[in-house]
Amino acid sequence: MDFIDLKSQYAALRDNINARIQKLLDHGQYILGPEVREMEEALVAYTGARHCISVASGTEALLICLMALDLQPGDEIITSPFTFAATAEMIVLAGGVPVFVDIEPDTANIDANLIEAAITPRTKAIMPVSLYGQVADMDAINAIAQKHGIAVIEDAAQSFGASYKGRKSCNLSTFGCTSFFPSKPLGCYGDGGAIFTSDDRLAQACREIRIHGQSQRYLHTRLGVGGRMDTLQCAVVLGKLDRFEWEIKRRLELGDAYRARLSAAIPGLQPLAVRDDRDCVWAQYTVFVDERDAVQARLKAAGVPTAVHYPRPLHHQPAYAQYARPEDCPHSIAAAERVMSLPMSADLSDEQLNRVVTALTAALG
Ligand SMILES: *Cc1c(COP(=O)(O)O)cnc(C)c1O
Repeated sequence: MDFIDLKSQYAALRDNINARIQKLLDHGQYILGPEVREMEEALVAYTGARHCISVASGTEALLICLMALDLQPGDEIITSPFTFAATAEMIVLAGGVPVFVDIEPDTANIDANLIEAAITPRTKAIMPVSLYGQVADMDAINAIAQKHGIAVIEDAAQSFGASYKGRKSCNLSTFGCTSFFPSKPLGCYGDGGAIFTSDDRLAQACREIRIHGQSQRYLHTRLGVGGRMDTLQCAVVLGKLDRFEWEIKRRLELGDAYRARLSAAIPGLQPLAVRDDRDCVWAQYTVFVDERDAVQARLKAAGVPTAVHYPRPLHHQPAYAQYARPEDCPHSIAAAERVMSLPMSADLSDEQLNRVVTALTAALG
């Protein structure tokens, strides 16, 4: 069993993806070719955001929107320490200071109730992470941001396709940034990402920053990066969009099936909470377990792959320790000790899910 089954997905979409790649090889516009715009338009239609700017990766998406906000040295960005390193890494690279706010212990998303106390005159933006595919409490976060005149950047690398109060992830705040890394809910066959915004001025800034700050060819009006997404990778995303709605439906169904089987009071195991007004597209199907190392070893012996997202909160990583005290964000510290991700992808069969649940129940018992 694969942790994420991309081979079955390719088998199902093979003709479509191959035809799209062949078409690209025939027209030969490898950089900013027609598929780039076609994908951006398809994703605008999907999310409802006014603009989509495809970029080289999810990491690059975060960097480019921070640059578009014109961060000054010492500007603060509020975020969660319980995330992939890129979230805080790009804040520092853009000249900012990450301010870590703890998570809710049951959803592992930033606790909106703790954000206001972290705001200072230097706060430039709030960057919630839609961890595991579930959006944080965006209405509350947007209300705080509006009150203080600051931006909100959703790190939606794990949540493309998720819904929050009837709206799509990536279209919930000033910016939404997603990733097309192969294992994400909508993946390409290499690196790729996208920025979403409905602000025309910020969209234009992101488009310029993506190509070395050019407002016209060889007129560099601002500092930028080489941040384009390959036409080839856009063709792959387009090939995968045909089945994407089905995949999201299937992910939600598998998440419900896991939950129904695992919430039956298995000692030492706690499923992730999903709030009633949103869904979770399960970039990872993550649970909290006691004695994780032993459980993982038993599952491995039973042929069930697992992973840990993430084993250390960022303020316990050497590169980011200076931004908080070690004892800060206790729920993030506790989650890092207990989270474990189980096999998940739209092509996971009911029978495979049963095998995972049976093996996990035995491993805990
Ligand atoms: C994957 C991920 C990123 C980075 O995306 P890449 O496309 O790999 O650069 C950023 N933030 C989170 C939360 C992620 O899961």
